[in-house]
Amino acid sequence: MKPSFPDYRLRCGWNALLSRREPAPALSTDIDSDVAIIGAGYTGIAIAKRWQTHYPDQSVALIDSSEIGEGNPGRNSGFLLETALAEDADAANLDRMRRSNAMIAATLQDILRDIEDSGASVDIARAGTYRAAASDIGARSIARYEAFLQASELPYEKLTKSDLQQRIGSSYFQEGLYSPHCYLAQPAQLIRALFAALPDTVSCFENTPALSIENRSSRWLVTTPKGNIQCDTLFLANNAFAKSLGIGQSQLVAMYTYAGLTPALPESLHSQLGSDSNWGLLPTHRLGSTLRRTVDQRLLIRSSHDYEHEASSSHVRDSLTRRMHARFPQLKGISLESVWGGAVGFTYNGGLVWGEEKPGLFVSAGCNGGGTVKGTLLGRLLADLAVGADVPDVTDFFGKASWMPPEPIRALGFHITSQLEQWAGRAEM
Ligand SMILES: Cc1cc2nc3c(=O)[nH]c(=O)nc-3n(C[C@H](O)[C@H](O)[C@H](O)COP(=O)(O)OP(=O)(O)OC[C@H]3O[C@@H](n4cnc5c(N)ncnc54)[C@H](O)[C@@H]3O)c2cc1C
Repeated sequence: MKPSFPDYRLRCGWNALLSRREPAPALSTDIDSDVAIIGAGYTGIAIAKRWQTHYPDQSVALIDSSEIGEGNPGRNSGFLLETALAEDADAANLDRMRRSNAMIAATLQDILRDIEDSGASVDIARAGTYRAAASDIGARSIARYEAFLQASELPYEKLTKSDLQQRIGSSYFQEGLYSPHCYLAQPAQLIRALFAALPDTVSCFENTPALSIENRSSRWLVTTPKGNIQCDTLFLANNAFAKSLGIGQSQLVAMYTYAGLTPALPESLHSQLGSDSNWGLLPTHRLGSTLRRTVDQRLLIRSSHDYEHEASSSHVRDSLTRRMHARFPQLKGISLESVWGGAVGFTYNGGLVWGEEKPGLFVSAGCNGGGTVKGTLLGRLLADLAVGADVPDVTDFFGKASWMPPEPIRALGFHITSQLEQWAGRAEM
């Protein structure tokens, strides 16, 4: 049987760069709480914070199966977009796009304030983001995104192959564009800071996986290895793993993707890596590769996908290294210092599993590849929904996850579709 929580083979490379922190103790006894939240990621932390602004005197228990920084929220590539992702962008539906972008941008400002309140030092800068195409498929995706940016009157720069080579030091791409609407962060630092900014009234338990949930006499019971939580209101903020607790089973998939960081590159290589010293590049294909150059002069590559399982470490290392060297042949002698995997809560149509599933049971999952800011916004709105406050029509803004067939048809469908897409878009992988 699959575990009800992620259990990664490899350490998170971002977290390995930070000093050790003392985790909050695991739950070791039975407790009673007004509210329980499963998952201390962007979504769960936002729920806890928002609930406390509504009801500062109520008890809130926040549990996570991992340690903050080491788990999924610390494993991403650190892009905090102020606008929709390319796949979400829709030039034909501008009013909706503008309003959702405004909510996302305001949420990002709140994240920046929370970082400041935490007093923690976080590498985060409004570095913007590149999108670059290595093939005609990628070029068509860039053209669609450009149409969206133009229609939305958002600024951007169009870039030729030689512009890209001059700025990021890679001649792999044919063309691209740069948009300033993105922050780049060290994600393990970021999630540690957001966690540290939670009010003391939230009781946090790390290394505490929820094994099952159950409705008992109109209350909820969460079972964990060494203690149970009884609560009136339960939030599932554990992303793809909500389905292991019985929710979103016909909509959610855990899609594993991988990232690797080089060591800090020697100064002798800096001049071969273009004029821009802190940048991020998002793929033009949904299965394509993400790249970053970090403030401490490492290169990051994020690439490859596996359905519901994490690939072997040696396979991940080989495939990421090959893709990095294809883009940066000048780094041929450099290997990756760390590689790791993470699970994305994937839905077939990119829509969400969001709302009240059963009386007193609320869920937010399925942010796909872009949930740091969106997850924060959705967590906050979910807490608003649970207290009966006015909330915008989230499904209208971000879509509703569509139905997927059961196994084994689902896995077969995924493998066939991804093989075909990877073949057609192979230059972007
Ligand atoms: C390699 C990689 C790169 C990515 N890059 C980006 C990016 O650059 N920008 C971006 O916006 N998004 C990115 N994403 C996606 C992003 O990480 C997610 O959308 C985001 O983390 C979702 O936040 P969340 O809080 O909803 O869920 P998560 O971050 O997945 O947090 C869920 C939490 O629940 C915990 N949990 C799970 N099951 C249980 C259980 N049974 N009991 C207790 N706790 C449990 C997990 O340990 C985890 O801490 C990336 C993802 C990966 C894997």
